[in-house]
Amino acid sequence: MVLKLYNTLSGEKEVFSPLNDSIVGIYSCGPTVYDVAHIGNLRAYVFADVLRRYLELKGYKVKQVMNITDLDDKTIRASKEQGVSLREYTDRYIRFFFNDIDLLRIRRADVYPRVTEHIKEMVSMVKTLLDKGYAYRKDGSVYYKIQAFRDYGNLAKIDLSKIKAGITVEADEYEKEDVRDFALWKEKKEGEPFWETEIGEGRPGWHIECSAISTKYLGPTVDIHTGGVDNIFPHHQNEIAQSEAATGKRFVRYWMHCEHLLVNNKKMSKSLGNIITLESIVSSGFRADALRYLFVSSHYRSKLNFTWESIRHAENTLDRLNNFIERLPGYESDALDSEEIARLIRSTQERFEIEMDNDLNTPGAFAAVFEMIGRVNTGLDEAKLSTQDARAVHELMMRLDKVLDILSPGKKEGLSEEIEALIEERERARRMKDFKKADEIRKRLEEKGIVLEDTRTGVRWMSKFIK
Ligand SMILES: [Zn+2]
Repeated sequence: MVLKLYNTLSGEKEVFSPLNDSIVGIYSCGPTVYDVAHIGNLRAYVFADVLRRYLELKGYKVKQVMNITDLDDKTIRASKEQGVSLREYTDRYIRFFFNDIDLLRIRRADVYPRVTEHIKEMVSMVKTLLDKGYAYRKDGSVYYKIQAFRDYGNLAKIDLSKIKAGITVEADEYEKEDVRDFALWKEKKEGEPFWETEIGEGRPGWHIECSAISTKYLGPTVDIHTGGVDNIFPHHQNEIAQSEAATGKRFVRYWMHCEHLLVNNKKMSKSLGNIITLESIVSSGFRADALRYLFVSSHYRSKLNFTWESIRHAENTLDRLNNFIERLPGYESDALDSEEIARLIRSTQERFEIEMDNDLNTPGAFAAVFEMIGRVNTGLDEAKLSTQDARAVHELMMRLDKVLDILSPGKKEGLSEEIEALIEERERARRMKDFKKADEIRKRLEEKGIVLEDTRTGVRWMSKFIK
């Protein structure tokens, strides 16, 4: 079966074939660690995770790279406001980021390069752009000359004829009306971190980060580049301009973008006070995997409207799925194996793949799974399903869950196995009155972002976040 993926660049679903048969390179724009991620950011990471897992199910080897932006206008401003070093400030939010993605069962990328550790690569790319005439100096900074790049606007569908030459924009983020020559390198400013380099004293702009990092880890051409739709302009458009001008090669073969997440039909924003984080969901009593289910069960290219009702509904559905999966392994019956169930299993697997091959149509894939569950449940209730058939259904569910990763039979908390094991170990230590060990484990859990509270009824855990 042929996998088709929607490419933002062409505006069409295209047959996927990687540049190199043995490995698929995926570059995903990672977090800017100036604040806790909101659930809109997290949605884009879950989408990239499902994409990667599905490619693996199809037999591809994947190398995924996700940068961590620990240097940009926002992180610098926020660390100054708190009076701590940029490193100290961003380290804290990097820990929260990994805590979030672990709770959401997002498989770790192969590498998470930090921007501050790749200044050399960025400087070298800016130098190449200067040498090739795609960039120019103004005061102590370096700007990208967008009119020198013929294809500028191809991804974001921008009409270049309205652009005036030589007008620059300093900010990392700006709107389409402000399309201008953007900063590749920013001159040293009082009170900002800077590096002494051969192109001067200063720091890189935001956009050059991803171009330089992806070239270092994945070569000049990447198979798939993922991000949220709000990255299309200016960020991804600028990445194309930088990379293709510097290397002379096509930068990305498939551009994939995850749609916006709305909250009560409104865009999340600080001014509306409607920012929702994973922590706010967990502390409202919902499991993190309910959020994963909510994300995975909707199509990544559809806007998703988050409401508290929707997360409640997602958790209920997930409970039903877990109840179903829990029934299967211990099920015993004298009923004979049925050809109908064998056919149902085959057709469910086939439908799952047909839907996923169609630009990761997860809602269609879930429809196939739920249809099978409905029929199998009836067989279980009436004990008409054979023991062997129940095992086969279980096996199929587990195989599909390698992509979806939503099931946790027998577990009611959305914690990783590692963390659950630590919590249990600490309980044992407490029962043995080994309070020193219990305390050590509590500290280790805290480092992982989990805070334990001893209550009369037992131990409760919370993710630890700083607002
Ligand atoms: Zn990026």
